[in-house]
Amino acid sequence: MEKLALVAQALSDYDYVRFYEPKDLDVALLKTLHEAHYVEAFLTGEPRKLATIQGFKPWNVKLRDAVLAVNAGQLQAAELAFEHGLAANIAQGFHHATPDFGCAYCTFNGLALIAQQFPDKRIFVLDCDQHGGNGTAEFVLKLPNLYNFSIYGQAFGCASYERAETRYIHPTQGNFHDYQQAIHEGFAAAQAWGADLIIYQAGMDCHQDDPHGSAWFSTDLIEQREQLVFRLGKNSQIPLLFVLAGGYQKLEKLIPLHVRTFEIAQAIYYPHE
Ligand SMILES: [Zn+2]
Repeated sequence: MEKLALVAQALSDYDYVRFYEPKDLDVALLKTLHEAHYVEAFLTGEPRKLATIQGFKPWNVKLRDAVLAVNAGQLQAAELAFEHGLAANIAQGFHHATPDFGCAYCTFNGLALIAQQFPDKRIFVLDCDQHGGNGTAEFVLKLPNLYNFSIYGQAFGCASYERAETRYIHPTQGNFHDYQQAIHEGFAAAQAWGADLIIYQAGMDCHQDDPHGSAWFSTDLIEQREQLVFRLGKNSQIPLLFVLAGGYQKLEKLIPLHVRTFEIAQAIYYPHE
């Protein structure tokens, strides 16, 4: 979580980035998305075991409010993407959070949250985090307007269902050609389904220097991935919202990777500005 403020700080140097303060989040929405008892536990801190089941220990008010602000930002970013065609939330998608409770530092699933908030919109998640989006895949069973397309090197129990696809690219034996192919298949699926919004999880934990990374995934290939995603996104004319997703190497190496996503998005969507 500590990378988020540093990415925002780095982006404040760019005059093409416009910042928005998130509005307040209606917690009633969270209670319809996740099991209400779990949401209440996280909001109050009790029972402690359930409130901290995602791994944030000890529970505290500051962390709770940060999680709520991040999810409010997610909804606001979706609105901005519908309005402008491109927007970002400087946050993760929290794709491991399942309908019943959080998991692996993901408290509420910010990807499913958008599908819950906009039931008349078809929400397509292109998840390029190194870990499978297991929580989002489970939400697909609950939300008919949600589609999860997860490209990963570590499965993390991510299931395949109708509207929940998985592409496994091996961390050592895999290659970028297969990864590119998976991205093309993702966009083809989004278009065939008639998606109204694509949420791109621009994970950096697949980078070769990340403790979870794939050996072949160099900085140059990460840049090529961003170029491909934003080019296909722009060509599709489907509004696109991107979030940072995972990334666990040293902050001085990690922040420039995340900032690069914004630079490439800007260069492709607004080449003349
Ligand atoms: Zn990850």
